[in-house]
Amino acid sequence: MATVNTVLGPIDTADFGFTLMHEHVLITSAGLKNVYPEFVPRDHAIAEGTRRLKEVKAAGVSTIVDLTTMDLGRDVTVIREAAEQSGVNIICATGTWLDIQRSFQNANPDDIARLYIREIEEGIENTGIRAGVIKVANDIGGVTPGGEIILRAAARAQKATGVPIITHTWSPEKVGDQQIAIFEDEGVDLNRVCVGHSNDTTDLGYLTGLFKKGVWVGMDRFPSYRPELPDWRERTRILKTLMDAGWTEKLMVSHDDPMTMLIAPKAVFDERIKRNPDHICFIARKMLPYLRELGATEADVRQITVSNPAKFFGG
Ligand SMILES: [Zn+2]
Repeated sequence: MATVNTVLGPIDTADFGFTLMHEHVLITSAGLKNVYPEFVPRDHAIAEGTRRLKEVKAAGVSTIVDLTTMDLGRDVTVIREAAEQSGVNIICATGTWLDIQRSFQNANPDDIARLYIREIEEGIENTGIRAGVIKVANDIGGVTPGGEIILRAAARAQKATGVPIITHTWSPEKVGDQQIAIFEDEGVDLNRVCVGHSNDTTDLGYLTGLFKKGVWVGMDRFPSYRPELPDWRERTRILKTLMDAGWTEKLMVSHDDPMTMLIAPKAVFDERIKRNPDHICFIARKMLPYLRELGATEADVRQITVSNPAKFFGG
């Protein structure tokens, strides 16, 4: 098996166990932690993250992937402390989300790729903590010119390092297809790509098309977070439908439910907590029991929660 960097150092993919593929310990904004640190609830984020991670560990999860990038206010020292105190393995990310830096918008993708490669090979902000995954994001309206630069930079960093890419998409507009077209143009092995947020849609034609391209598919938003999107039972039924169609070996799950978040109004965050008191334990406590009720076997569940993340990261 292969070795992957976590915030506490390398681990073997054989030791991943139950893995959640898209989570966030703390979301703020770029630069805040350095310039206005009093605005960032660092101690609260560590305490809250640790509390939730201990709970999810008790529910059977051993590893999470934290897809917080610099433009989401990434603080790898917060993630490291939460990992240390909870005993959960955490893989952190390089890459860029939707708040693409102005300075990146006209940059050569090679110059941005070099930054990502440094965070993978040497470490992030002199901490020695190395990124284990590359994150990119394209949303409503599809891939913008700036978004394309980021996708190409991510593709080149992937090819240089072998580290996989996980994307944020807006699946109701089939944005995954646009991302795949650019990765193909860059010559990325699509088996090293996971198209995330793919359960905001129930469009089986679109989803099947993703698998046929050879990417992994992240059903990584549970429960639902907007009333106009599929609810969690619908999301679980679509997952089961795709498993029945033969795609069990390419599916992975997660919540994308931030443990502490400053970029949304507090009321929105409080509403999320109220709507999902199980937070990142939701999949273990609610979704998987329903998936079993729908007929999934223990081998199926193990495949999507344990074997697939290990294979995805192992290459
Ligand atoms: Zn996310």
